[in-house]
Amino acid sequence: MEIENATALVTGANRGLGREFTRQLLDRGARRVYATARNPHSVDVEAAVPLALDVTDAASIQAAVQAAPDVDLLINNAGIATVTPVLTGDLDTIRQDVETNVFGMLQVTRALAPALGRNGGGAIVTVLSAASWYAVPGNAAYSVSKAAAWNLNNAFRVELAEQGTQVLGAHVGLVDTDMSAGWDFPKISAREFVTTVLDGLAAGEIEVVADDFARRAKAALS
Ligand code: NDP
Repeated sequence: MEIENATALVTGANRGLGREFTRQLLDRGARRVYATARNPHSVDVEAAVPLALDVTDAASIQAAVQAAPDVDLLINNAGIATVTPVLTGDLDTIRQDVETNVFGMLQVTRALAPALGRNGGGAIVTVLSAASWYAVPGNAAYSVSKAAAWNLNNAFRVELAEQGTQVLGAHVGLVDTDMSAGWDFPKISAREFVTTVLDGLAAGEIEVVADDFARRAKAALS
């Protein structure tokens, strides 16, 4: 995917990795970046176009898609981590992780896939995790949701092959954002992670594994 002149829509663009994606896409010459957030007033990247979008709210997704008909690059970034074990944790809390990280990104992708097709095929980047491949101690609900998101992203690649959409999954252990604040492990910076992902996107890759932790989690699968 050629990032220069792309029109991107980023979910969860008001902080953390979403804000960094928004900044770097604009730095790389994207024509327009719709920086979507539950509260669009919290978007602080000046050259971006703020839009309201809650990935768990179908009406909000439809409104955002109508306001952004020219999108050819979707960044599925919004996510939560409730830090819940699956055997003893509250079921409704586990469902929250799945609702946002699985059904949320599924609904956004379903809504935007036709626009990508109309606009030349384009690309989808989904922020996954080392946890897609590994049950994080104390936080298996998140691992369940990211494993499902990984499989969904692989299904998008198959189902959108005909319209020529590049579908990239980005895996990483820990990145220094609000989400990782309570975890005392080595972290890479948001800047480094997003640079690695966008370099992979520009090179036509379908998978980026951005740090050693995620590389080890992947190797343990085989
Ligand atoms: P942050 O907690 O810093 O940011 C999460 C973002 O997601 C916020 O913008 C938040 O918006 C948004 N969000 C949450 N729920 C919704 C929703 N229902 N609709 C729209 N936006 C929503 O986390 P990160 O930036 O670190 O996380 C970004 C992605 O990276 C996530 O998918 C996460 O799982 C993944 N990831 C992060 C890692 C890390 O170590 N940080 C490691 C591996 C993957 P609001 O401000 O409204 O809450």
